[in-house]
Amino acid sequence: MATMPDDLAALDAYLAATRDDRLESYMAFLRIPSISALPEHAADCRRAADWLVEAMTTAGLEHVEAAETGGHPVVYADWLHAPGAPTILAYGHYDVQPVDPLDLWTSPPFEPVVVRDRILARGAADDKGQVHAHVMAAGAILATRGAFPVNVKYLFEGEEESSSVHLDAWLASERDRLGADVAIVSDSGFFEGNLPAITLSLRGLMYAQIDVVGTAVDLHSGTYGGAVQNPANALATIIAGLKGPDGRIRIPGFYDDVVPLSESDRASLAALPFDDAAYQRQLGLPALVGEVGYTTLERRGVRPTLDVNGIWGGFTGEGSKTIIPAHAHAKVSCRLVADQDPDRIFEAFRSYVEEIAPPGVTTIVRYLGGGSPSLTPMDHPATRAAARALEATFGRAPVYIREGGSIPVCASFASILGLPVVLLGFTQPDDNAHAPNEWMDLRNYETAIRAIAQTFDELVDLPR
Ligand SMILES: [Zn+2]
Repeated sequence: MATMPDDLAALDAYLAATRDDRLESYMAFLRIPSISALPEHAADCRRAADWLVEAMTTAGLEHVEAAETGGHPVVYADWLHAPGAPTILAYGHYDVQPVDPLDLWTSPPFEPVVVRDRILARGAADDKGQVHAHVMAAGAILATRGAFPVNVKYLFEGEEESSSVHLDAWLASERDRLGADVAIVSDSGFFEGNLPAITLSLRGLMYAQIDVVGTAVDLHSGTYGGAVQNPANALATIIAGLKGPDGRIRIPGFYDDVVPLSESDRASLAALPFDDAAYQRQLGLPALVGEVGYTTLERRGVRPTLDVNGIWGGFTGEGSKTIIPAHAHAKVSCRLVADQDPDRIFEAFRSYVEEIAPPGVTTIVRYLGGGSPSLTPMDHPATRAAARALEATFGRAPVYIREGGSIPVCASFASILGLPVVLLGFTQPDDNAHAPNEWMDLRNYETAIRAIAQTFDELVDLPR
């Protein structure tokens, strides 16, 4: 359904008239130091949740509450008066990262300042700015039209920056109340050069540890060397066997569930402004390497990986000590892509490591954790709706990106609530999220409010 020009004009007029108040409100939200990882800020997290409850009530949303989770509360609200229309679940988080090193901040992290078009503060971009834009969009829609075109549910969590420890259990217990047709996750951003972007996929993770154990204590390498297996050598043999010189992971069945890249997927990645040489220079590396047959953007975004994250054992002090180490260890993780399952990948990894482990030592493989990948195709109607809204408000068609990292909540929405997820975020790539001097471009923030409103309009026709 196309939005009536009068509706848009009224929304724009309202947003222009309320701009100063909105900035003040944004800054008040940013002043609350809601660092979820630090116990001494637990009361601040609750204060941020209560602040949101009040702001969302003022916006005209209903059933607003700070719901208990066992950790920091989840803020929930809804507006469900569009019978027959789709239901949208909007997600963001009100907690923020710690602020150290404090001395690198040019102004105190919880005293927001506006410098030209940027607002500087911890959380300005990740993710309080985006949460605030959603609340302001809700208020603007209800103030100018009295109704949303769709049903909306809001879920703003307070533990995203500390692993969302309590979220999955809460989602499972609230499954009925959270029923929807699509989830809009606003915790991502634009591409280099402030290009509007929609993130289509996120990678999952499988994390394991390999322990190779020989004797109870280190052995003298002169007395025993040559007659016994060396756990460090054995571990190196195992690691060397995990990948081929072509960059392919050798675990049998590893690629079985990988959703193949379509021609249009590859074309859209190839169309992104990305310069391999500049990337290599920026990293200061003599060469870029990776799986044969794939580009750098494909390797780091849409292909699964296997990397040793740490390796230790034996003597590592200064000088020399002639021993055969008693044991050696490595932490190994795989970034996974749709539809790889972390548990199945771990089982395949374990049996392959056991198969290639040299004799004469005991090799133990342990699972340290994992998360599922997520993918919503470019041609999904909800992706298309968000793309139309971005183009209409930011003035150019979005690019499609594949994020190499993870936002675990996306996998949870898919697995627990059965929802497709659209990642609609508005920050800039160099916004210093998680670092000193985090900032949000106020023009992006203001236009995000209109983009969110327009996305709801575009989602009216979402097939259900
Ligand atoms: Zn975030």
